[in-house]
Amino acid sequence: MIRLAIQSKGRLNEESLKLLKDSGIEVDDTRRKFIGKASDFPLELLYLRDDDIPGVVADGSADLGVVGLNEVAESGADVKVIRKLGFGRCRISLAVPKEVDYPGLSWFQGRSIATSYPSILSRFLSEKGISAEIREIKGSVEIAPAAGIADAIFDIVSSGGTLVSNGLREVEPVMESEAVLVGGNDIPADKREVLDSVLFRFDSVRESRGKKYILMNIPTGKVGEAMSLLPSMRSPTVMPLALEGWSSIHSVVDDSRLWRTVESLKRIGAEGILILNVDKVID
Ligand code: ATP
Ligand code: MG
Repeated sequence: MIRLAIQSKGRLNEESLKLLKDSGIEVDDTRRKFIGKASDFPLELLYLRDDDIPGVVADGSADLGVVGLNEVAESGADVKVIRKLGFGRCRISLAVPKEVDYPGLSWFQGRSIATSYPSILSRFLSEKGISAEIREIKGSVEIAPAAGIADAIFDIVSSGGTLVSNGLREVEPVMESEAVLVGGNDIPADKREVLDSVLFRFDSVRESRGKKYILMNIPTGKVGEAMSLLPSMRSPTVMPLALEGWSSIHSVVDDSRLWRTVESLKRIGAEGILILNVDKVID
């Protein structure tokens, strides 16, 4: 039995549960409980505040955790990042009131900065040789300058909308973050097999995201040209159709280039193009 800690509510909860579900690890929706058990997999879920996750993994109360890289960095807990998970992307930045004529980092010298990430900030400032007063507040950091609590803030930014609506401007991105899978430094041998299975499943789900399966019919004389438009995991599958002079091509395409590829394929005579979701990719 392996124990995985995830956020009990908040921004990473839903995506963490979805990753498990897509990996065939179904846990009853027991969010209000502290511990949940997967029905068909030797895994127990611990639902925690995200701040607590790195610590419980470091001390072995949980074997694994899904948490933002920012929380791992802030906690300083002795854990290993096993995988980046590709969701919960954000950055942690310094932001100042928008009317400030910002000359560069020296502006922060001697000023006060409100944040929920005092360790990351103090490491950054000392690396840059800036001394500033760090005021730790747990929430609503973005209102601190308007409320006269601090001159600037150091906080999570994703679209920047919250900053703008609070009259602030991002001036220094300091750290990129996303959800990561963390583990302790020595996973006991008897849990290794389950861990490998979790990783295998997570990787297959991750690999399939942003991909589409595409199939089409095309005049056989155009197959070479079509293949050059279709990078595939190995190479596209080509099969003759019963109809003389026609072939069928199957391939996998990244979402990001799907429409460009389909348009080019149509231009060279592809017909009956089908585009399907990819559920899992097993290499
Ligand atoms: P908890 O109650 O568990 O302590 P919290 O309020 O500290 O939750 P959330 O706001 O739920 O934290 O954010 C959890 C994590 O999600 C953050 O640590 C960060 O990694 C990521 N995150 C936060 N804000 C954003 C955002 N705007 N866009 C993308 N990811 C974000
Ligand atoms: Mg938190």
